[in-house]
Amino acid sequence: MPTRQRTLSDSSDPQKQREQGVRAIRAALQSGHAAEAARLLMRLVEGRLVPHHRKLATWLVSAIGRNETAKLVDAFVHLPCFYCAKGRLPCHVCESRGHLPTESVCPRCLGAGVERCDFCAGSGWATINAIPEGLRATVIRKRTRLASERTAALLDRSIPKPSTRDPEGTIRQYRLLLLKLDRQMGVFENMLLATRTLRTPSREIRSALASILNRCMRLALRVEKRTAEIMRAMSEAHRVLARSGLPKNATKSELLRRAEYYDSLGDPDATLAGTGLEHPFLHRAITGTLKNSQTP
Ligand SMILES: [Zn+2]
Ligand SMILES: [Zn+2]
Repeated sequence: MPTRQRTLSDSSDPQKQREQGVRAIRAALQSGHAAEAARLLMRLVEGRLVPHHRKLATWLVSAIGRNETAKLVDAFVHLPCFYCAKGRLPCHVCESRGHLPTESVCPRCLGAGVERCDFCAGSGWATINAIPEGLRATVIRKRTRLASERTAALLDRSIPKPSTRDPEGTIRQYRLLLLKLDRQMGVFENMLLATRTLRTPSREIRSALASILNRCMRLALRVEKRTAEIMRAMSEAHRVLARSGLPKNATKSELLRRAEYYDSLGDPDATLAGTGLEHPFLHRAITGTLKNSQTP
């Protein structure tokens, strides 16, 4: 973090304020404080000191150059959610224990102890409303591309089998994998919604976004199937745990009950309805657009 916050000019002359703002943005970018540069641009936009909508990107290139504009756009792509850490918050249902007082699995966090941040849909990134309107289409395109690449990489790896020596370690691995996949689903869901609220995108932008989102939907369908697979593996890991030297914090019958619960979520037709991993809007979009198509 910078030692001194750069501020915009307190001059009442818009031209001076703009020049000062541009200098501050450039200085922030050059010293590696891209998020701060993003905040400075937001203030210029809020103060209506820079062109709006599609003209903003062109203005930025003329004001700070192509490379610095790319850095600034990148800062908006990765701008963190203002309410959570990487899309997660302590689970309020089980108070981060992962299970309810009845010892059954917490349906909100599915045993992880952390729940999805509803504000950013678990993506961990600031919502698109926080991005200046003129940069939204570019940010949506870059975020969906990034999430697609990360999802494809996660889906490329097969799910490890439950370890008989360390079933609890395997359960932790599954939870981490579910979290990573859910984060990408959050990006897909947000970007799908954001695309619908874009104002005045050109036909070219609209068509580029449609094709990227179509790929996202195909990947999201595969994530739904993979999630069900992980639930079945999770069930198996709990059975292994029940057979092995038991952990101190659960009895054999509790572990077998949890195994059954995960098994019910592993049904290929399960939608995760009622759990904290459900993405109802995204699920409807997937089934609506890809009902009869093949997965890649
Ligand atoms: Zn919970
Ligand atoms: Zn958040």
